[in-house]
Amino acid sequence: MAQTTQKVFSPKVAGGAAPPSAAPSAATSAAPAAPALGGHTDLSADLATALTPDAVRGLLTPDKVMDESRQGEALNRSVAGAQRLAYVETYGCQMNFSDTEIIAAMLTEQGYGFTKDESAADLVLLNTCAIREGAEQKVWERLKHLRHVKRQRAQRGQDQLVGLMGCMAERLKAKVLDQEQLVDLVVGPDAYRSLPELIAQVGSGQKAVNVLLSREETYADIAPIRLDTNGVSAFVSIMRGCDNMCAFCVVPFTRGRERSRAADSIVAECAQLVAEGYQEVTLLGQNVDSYHDEATGVDFAGLLDQVARVSPTLRIRYSTSHPKDMTDAVLHVMAAHPNICNYIHLPVQSGSSAVLERMNRGYTREWYLERIAAIRRILPGCALSTDIITGFCGEAEADHAETLSLMRAVGFDHAFMFAYSERPGTLAARKYPDDVEEVVKKRRLAEVIALQQELSLASNRRDIGSVQTVLIEGTSKRSTAQWSGRADSNKMVVFDAVGRGEGPGTYVQVEISEVSSATLKGRMI
Ligand code: SAM
Ligand code: SF4
Repeated sequence: MAQTTQKVFSPKVAGGAAPPSAAPSAATSAAPAAPALGGHTDLSADLATALTPDAVRGLLTPDKVMDESRQGEALNRSVAGAQRLAYVETYGCQMNFSDTEIIAAMLTEQGYGFTKDESAADLVLLNTCAIREGAEQKVWERLKHLRHVKRQRAQRGQDQLVGLMGCMAERLKAKVLDQEQLVDLVVGPDAYRSLPELIAQVGSGQKAVNVLLSREETYADIAPIRLDTNGVSAFVSIMRGCDNMCAFCVVPFTRGRERSRAADSIVAECAQLVAEGYQEVTLLGQNVDSYHDEATGVDFAGLLDQVARVSPTLRIRYSTSHPKDMTDAVLHVMAAHPNICNYIHLPVQSGSSAVLERMNRGYTREWYLERIAAIRRILPGCALSTDIITGFCGEAEADHAETLSLMRAVGFDHAFMFAYSERPGTLAARKYPDDVEEVVKKRRLAEVIALQQELSLASNRRDIGSVQTVLIEGTSKRSTAQWSGRADSNKMVVFDAVGRGEGPGTYVQVEISEVSSATLKGRMI
């Protein structure tokens, strides 16, 4: 039965103000969304060619800026008594950042500490993304720079091993070793456990490659070393790989078959995070709706329910839902638990059923709109974001117009938007010519972006006057006298510090008074 009551999340709030009913009204809850799972790495590059720099800056939400600014982020954690130093850089989606936390745990066990100075490192690892050509291009440029660093170290009589990890390693395999002596080891996403042996192999003078994909590996037994420094929110990987074969997508080839981690181990990890003081978890999978714990039969709705019960003040987010698999049961679990954020990232990719069919997405425009109607019915005020690709094979102007009309019909609060980039080996690369001219792809992208900016601004304006429950993540980028954090709907909220005991990890109530298309601003009450 459809549920129409609105969710109320009333965690302990700093500042002494009684938590008002923070239930977002349909008119006040719409907001930009979290970075979607999966390689939004070269958005800036796409945008930069489509728009002026100022326009680009205006379009990037704080979320997106964070995501973009984390590209190539070096892991920084000193380990007491470390015998050797590793420099680890991460590119791509949240899943890659989550994988780096596993790699960090393994290296720590091997006696490595971490440095942010590549020239001080005995071991350099790049955890990479292959989702679009631009993402790989960035890594090639980094590798050329690193070769220079390695040669300088060699002149000082110091060794350095350079390894390529993650999706690009998996896509290119041993072929990477032929490239101008750039890397010594190549490790795919399911082969991180073999890292110690591979390092030893390279140490004995050989090149080393392990790109075997697995049907079982979930790294469930490895306690990740958290990379985030705010200690407030953490990613928890619930599954790996993907069994969908979206025609444009390289993920099934780089991350292998879909497999789910046992629900018990996920719940235990969330409980441990709560014990360590974390206030928010984001459950990660390429298609969370097909989560299935083989041993217990727990599905994604059941998992969400279990995680929500870990602590009433633990906020829960997840990414990514797939429109073909998203069930009403998941929506009802969300409605039942105030601590599950009222926000869904539901990538549509295109508003044209003909294009969706060529994309092999498994749904039509009408199906997608019906899923949106179900969300509106069961989760009033739920914030919505999406992914959109412009210029996919055979996309005509009429198809593009359907994407624009779908965006308006849904009124997305936020979107991640890309120009189609053909990836070797994918269904689309084998079956369809990449026949939309680059200039047309970019023009359509600019139109999609301009419309989304309008929709995001309208959504944010509806929040003026509302009171949002905000989980503080840290000081704002502009001023240390201001806090920034996220509303339930995942909008970034900035407000002046008032010194009433509030700080990173506390929930506060903020009355919204001013907005841009990217941020809400207000006053703590
Ligand atoms: N699993 C998620 C899903 O199905 O929606 C998305 C994962 S994918 C790694 C992230 C996004 O990158 C996709 O939703 C899509 O919009 C975009 N993407 C994937 N392949 C692309 C390509 N070849 N060119 C442009 N964008 C692409
Ligand atoms: Fe790629 Fe489709 Fe799998 Fe998402 S669901 S990772 S787009 S194949």
